[in-house]
Amino acid sequence: MIIISYDAVGDIEFETLKEYPTFRDLAEKSAIYRDVPSLFVSNTYPVHTSIVTGLRPEHHGLISNTEAFPYKNPIWNSSEKNIKAKTLWQAAFEKGIKTAAVLWPVTAFSKTIDYNIPEVLAPPGKNQLLYSMSEGSKRLQLKMFMRHKKLLDGTKQPNLDNFAAACMADILKEYNPGLAFIHLTAFDNFCHHNGTGVRGKKNPALETAYKALDENLNAILKAAGDEREIIIFSDHYQINVHTIVDPNRELLKSELILHDGKSYAPGKYNCFFENCGGSAFFHKGSLSAENTDIIRNNLKNSEGFRRFLEPAEMQESGYGHASFGFCAMPGYCYGLEQRGEKANHGYPSDMKDYNVFYMIKSSRVKSGSHKKGSLLNIAPFIAESLGLNL
Ligand SMILES: [Zn+2]
Repeated sequence: MIIISYDAVGDIEFETLKEYPTFRDLAEKSAIYRDVPSLFVSNTYPVHTSIVTGLRPEHHGLISNTEAFPYKNPIWNSSEKNIKAKTLWQAAFEKGIKTAAVLWPVTAFSKTIDYNIPEVLAPPGKNQLLYSMSEGSKRLQLKMFMRHKKLLDGTKQPNLDNFAAACMADILKEYNPGLAFIHLTAFDNFCHHNGTGVRGKKNPALETAYKALDENLNAILKAAGDEREIIIFSDHYQINVHTIVDPNRELLKSELILHDGKSYAPGKYNCFFENCGGSAFFHKGSLSAENTDIIRNNLKNSEGFRRFLEPAEMQESGYGHASFGFCAMPGYCYGLEQRGEKANHGYPSDMKDYNVFYMIKSSRVKSGSHKKGSLLNIAPFIAESLGLNL
């Protein structure tokens, strides 16, 4: 079975994807679940961890892409140790089923993935290949790098996806794993830089990404052969933004957070806003309840503020420990202002045109459209198909 992540390809892109031959062919043979809400917080690492555990972030513990404090160079939660629940690859390992993961999130240092090319970004000044090798399968990564390095241009897209697909194709042919995961991020990358499409209309700036997705899907399916079961899913969509708001700016004015000229530093009370794109959370540290209330009240009139998060949203996202959370209106997101992106994710699932899709090609499920899908159903389906105890 192969799990293919189409990062950030929302449900409204489905008809556009069908204009491309490989996706169209596969869709005809697959069970299709459309208009499915993402999981909250709708960011890549929490949702991918839900895909491999079948649990909400509250229960698997991987609640954010990066560590909470708003450092200029964020620390990514890429180590498998951050997952507090059993994963599909751990369950497969118990049954002696070989697994492979190519640029799949939160797989660094995994001892149970047999062929692992983890999604890790070397810190400035470090060599990417050596860094990746130290956190995944050493010899495999060296071999794949030597063979396919011509496809790469740093971490530029769609080059990186082309490299990932070539690696996955080789792994399927040479090692024949029983369960394989690949994460394709060209579309996410192009969307952040160019903005999304609109319903029923393709954004020409995304053409390169659509084409790469289809060509890379073709490379993977050709190597996979007809017998393998295939799942394609999307983790979240994106919402177009014109303004990035950094709520820590307000804290800075009263020196509740500090800035050393390059990056934020904790202030006396260690309170800060954790920016997650479409939403943000306040961690009060040792700040008094009274002052926390003042900060909360001031937010209501701040630019781009949509609403505070509901108790259920705080709970399910795993942010029950934060003082409060809130989300942005369309056109706005929370983050460091200088990042300058044109679309972002991390919004709650009541945002319009924000849902995702998934599809399953398997003899165990009827092709055609199905109602009532949930991203949380994917892991149990895989576990049942392969006889795993998840
Ligand atoms: Zn994503």
